[in-house]
Amino acid sequence: MFPDDLRDWQSRLRDQFPILTAHPGHAYLDSAATAQKPQAVLDAVTAYLTSENANAGRGAYPWANRTTALVDLARQRVSAFLGDPEPDRSGVHFVSGTTEGLRAVARDWLAHELRDGDEIIVPFADHAANALPWRETVDLLARQGVRVTVRPMPYDAAHDYDMRALAGMITDRTRLIATTHVHHVYGGDMNLARLRAAAGPDVVISVDAAQSAGHLPIDVAAMDADFVTFSGHKAMALPGTGVLWAANRRGPRFTPGGWSGTPNTSGIVSLTAALDWLDAAGVDRIARWTVALGARLTDGLRKLSAYEVLGCQRSLAADSPVQQRHGIVTFRHHAIGSNDLGFILAADGFMVRSDGHCQAHHGEKTSSVRVSLHVYNTVDEVDRLLDTLAGLDD
Ligand code: PMP
Repeated sequence: MFPDDLRDWQSRLRDQFPILTAHPGHAYLDSAATAQKPQAVLDAVTAYLTSENANAGRGAYPWANRTTALVDLARQRVSAFLGDPEPDRSGVHFVSGTTEGLRAVARDWLAHELRDGDEIIVPFADHAANALPWRETVDLLARQGVRVTVRPMPYDAAHDYDMRALAGMITDRTRLIATTHVHHVYGGDMNLARLRAAAGPDVVISVDAAQSAGHLPIDVAAMDADFVTFSGHKAMALPGTGVLWAANRRGPRFTPGGWSGTPNTSGIVSLTAALDWLDAAGVDRIARWTVALGARLTDGLRKLSAYEVLGCQRSLAADSPVQQRHGIVTFRHHAIGSNDLGFILAADGFMVRSDGHCQAHHGEKTSSVRVSLHVYNTVDEVDRLLDTLAGLDD
């Protein structure tokens, strides 16, 4: 059922995105790559840069003190956004995005924790940013004579994590399971609250929340996660903004390596404003909206014989009990190459992503077109896209 009760709410929110109101003939359908910014985020950044811009943690004058306070405020804001049950113990670290955050966990934490004979589990069908850094750390340790076994995360035929197989893989040498909250190609919610039971009490769980932050509630306590990383720019903050949250409950406290240097202060200010905006909009409602739009798109595509929608077929229905899809729909045309299809759609004002989507090496073998939705996307945009795609049907 389409959530008609959300239509007025959605339309009021969409009006807050100046780039969208300035381009009425265009449909931005690439929010999994980066999200558009509401006026409140732009205003917060302008206000900061025109009234109190300074470096943080240095200087005794008011602008510097205020900037330091704004960075602390952003940390508290992130903790609240993630449902952090123990903000005094955990740590919020600002990074440039998920790629840098995951790399920091691998390099600044895992590399010091692994011992000869340890094992880690890595999701090789997820984003490369959540596969390559773990491999890099294991290769580095191998050069120092420390042998660590990397086991691929098991998936079932529905592109879901195979929990039974996973539980069977855990040994007393398993140290880390790297996971993804929402898959960036199939859009499936990987339902991470069930993971701890399979992992046992001691294994460190790292969560790539790049596609879930701002799309559905993230509850670090329910996941019993140790690390959660997300890209602020995909959650409506400025580019170059990201978060690495560390629970600091298993193993030694996470401390980022190197010298911290100057933080991305305006990006951090934008993140506070973005999380305020998302919470005020209601992440639960955003999830209902994008799930419904995605379902409308998949339902429409399934009526067109030229298209194949990727991912678990059983999860395509909006009321599917498995892996609810969060506004990411990826498909191929059986005769038109995905890049060509991307150009055709661009000519009609549809901004989609067409390529291999940075999947790690157990990913799809050929490229595809990805439509990724956020709260500002409309029913009309989805219907117009379906009309255009229908014009290319057999
Ligand atoms: N993980 C996932 C699941 C992603 O979708 C992305 C971005 N496409 C990343 C990691 C990398 O994020 P960033 O480019 O912001 O570092």
